[in-house]
Amino acid sequence: MTLPRTIDVAIVGAGPAGIGTAVALDALETEHVVLERDCIGASFRQWPDEMRLLTPSFPANAFGVRDLNAVTTDTSPALALDCEHPTGEQYADYLEAVATFHELPIYGGVEVDRVVPDDETADRSAAGDEAGGFTLETSEGPIEAEYVVWAAGQYQYPSDGSLSGADHAVHVSTVDSWASYAGQWSIDEDERNAEAERAASDADREPARIAADGAGAAGPITDDVVIVGGAESGIDAALGLADTGCSVTVLDGDGPWQYRSSDPSEVLSPRTSDRLESALTEGRPIDLVTDARVEAIERERRGPVRADGDEYVVRTADGDAFRSRAPPLLATGFEGSLAVVDDLFAFDGGAPALTDRDESTETPGLFLVGPQVAHDGQQFCFIYKFRQRFAVVAETVGDRLGVDTDPLEEYREKRMFLEDLECCEPDYCDC
Ligand SMILES: Cc1cc2nc3c(=O)[nH]c(=O)nc-3n(C[C@H](O)[C@H](O)[C@H](O)COP(=O)(O)OP(=O)(O)OC[C@H]3O[C@@H](n4cnc5c(N)ncnc54)[C@H](O)[C@@H]3O)c2cc1C
Repeated sequence: MTLPRTIDVAIVGAGPAGIGTAVALDALETEHVVLERDCIGASFRQWPDEMRLLTPSFPANAFGVRDLNAVTTDTSPALALDCEHPTGEQYADYLEAVATFHELPIYGGVEVDRVVPDDETADRSAAGDEAGGFTLETSEGPIEAEYVVWAAGQYQYPSDGSLSGADHAVHVSTVDSWASYAGQWSIDEDERNAEAERAASDADREPARIAADGAGAAGPITDDVVIVGGAESGIDAALGLADTGCSVTVLDGDGPWQYRSSDPSEVLSPRTSDRLESALTEGRPIDLVTDARVEAIERERRGPVRADGDEYVVRTADGDAFRSRAPPLLATGFEGSLAVVDDLFAFDGGAPALTDRDESTETPGLFLVGPQVAHDGQQFCFIYKFRQRFAVVAETVGDRLGVDTDPLEEYREKRMFLEDLECCEPDYCDC
């Protein structure tokens, strides 16, 4: 396929958000493309091997309840993959199958570096529907589009939490598998015994942490790995590593594992809570430390016990220090791809300001789909949430292009068309 240079709609990203929006637009007579810097479902293919979707898949479509991980009205990852919690690779296979079935115009290997409104100097928010198009500066040259749908996700844009010494650590999103990470840093029995003796010889020190005496304070290495951040990614990493036999300490200022909420965006998902409880009951070596606000990470030469390498010290605001033999893991969240186009959005308390059609309030013609969409303080950060806005964006673009948008009625009938944002009010369960 030759990459078109002029198009009605350019969708950036071929993850679930981009594929789902492309399928919705495919029902209309619009000219659209999906520009993807890597391959379909690339973020999912980068997940650690052991990681699985938290949201369960179940083939309930026939009873009017969509599979939570489906991106179209009529598919079910549970049915396609024959599993309830797909791995990243499996889910990417599902996305590829959807793309193939719909013959979506996806162009892989096209990185979008910048989106430039054609009339950069005009007051675009005042221009409304009449606003001009965009030039997308890509690795394959410029592409002109009337409308842009930003669907580049979060996963490939990690945040290091602005920690001092973060470059000594490894972000969880860059780990291929917990087994291989553990294997890379595994130690033999003699080393472990030497460390245990060293720890035991210092009666004043707590088993999992030492009081910091300032930079360079010596102390026992008590854990194979220290993880900074105890939300979903941090706990998933801890569970994955503990499964391989590693001892793990998870540090978090708030300790999200302690809380429950009706919105799984804010707390651990039931799957992760369940796994964590089982692991702790079984006595897996996971130490959860709350009120631990990490400030800095240091790398030190260990000395005779571990001749081959350094050790790492994670220091908290309270003056505690946690030592590990492997580089600490950062589960400090994601900056998100909006960093590439942040000049085209206004931000309201960290969330991009969007109209009730998910269009940038700052740049008409530029739409956002995916987990960074937020309304009334509620994040649309799971597939079952943000997929309900694909047809909203498709309908808005279709109306402006003057094409028939009736085919999108199917999304309304099948309850994948969320227009009333009142649902975004916090919900409380009766039980
Ligand atoms: C650890 C973790 C676990 C999660 N688990 C779940 C879960 O169980 N269930 C759930 O519903 N959600 C889950 N989520 C939320 C998840 O982020 C989204 O559901 C999903 O990945 C978002 O889809 P997306 O299409 O927006 O982003 P992505 O899947 O990241 O897709 C974005 C695509 O855009 C491409 N891209 C990026 N930048 C550019 C560029 N500049 N130019 C061109 N292409 C670009 C990427 O290569 C990628 O293919 C999880 C998120 C994380 C971080």
